[in-house]
Amino acid sequence: MEVKIANGTLALVEGNITCEETDAIVNAANTRLMGGAGVDGAIHRAGGPSIMEECRKIGGCPTGQAVITTGGDLKAKYVIHTVGPIYQDGTKGEAELLKSAYLSSIKLASTKGLKSISFPAISTGAYAYPLKEAAQIALKTAMDYLREYSDIELIRFVLFGRKTYDTFREELRKLI
Ligand code: ADP
Repeated sequence: MEVKIANGTLALVEGNITCEETDAIVNAANTRLMGGAGVDGAIHRAGGPSIMEECRKIGGCPTGQAVITTGGDLKAKYVIHTVGPIYQDGTKGEAELLKSAYLSSIKLASTKGLKSISFPAISTGAYAYPLKEAAQIALKTAMDYLREYSDIELIRFVLFGRKTYDTFREELRKLI
């Protein structure tokens, strides 16, 4: 599913983010930038050890913020590592932090002059964010950015599995 927003495009696809050819892909990392499981593990396996070396030098990333490394062996030139919140009960600032993780990533891409970026569904795996709420925040943040700024041309959500894809699609339909 694809929608035009001002001069930009927002796309939803079901798939594996490590195969993306956008300028950057986003990793759902942890604050130490030392993951292993989920999308983080997949990105480091596919991208090779140079990405982890760069992460080690950076040292860490606070929740809601983002850092950038090169893409190693990936087709994407860069990996933007962001840290989403661990979902507790929804009263611990989770929504703001999740929005901030998306927005910090987009702004970092913009600062680097990048035109296209792919996101996974941040925080919805090991960090247990309820999928529907997470999809609403992800989509609204991306749409608001595309409406306000014209530097980023393409934001893709690369969703792992049918359930995640269907939830994002349903929520996007409500927003357009
Ligand atoms: P978090 O700790 O932020 O919850 P996870 O990696 O556990 O991060 O999960 C985030 C999302 O990434 C989940 O929807 C999970 O299914 C998805 N995911 C896992 N592997 C991949 C992949 N190769 N490409 C895209 N998404 C993936």
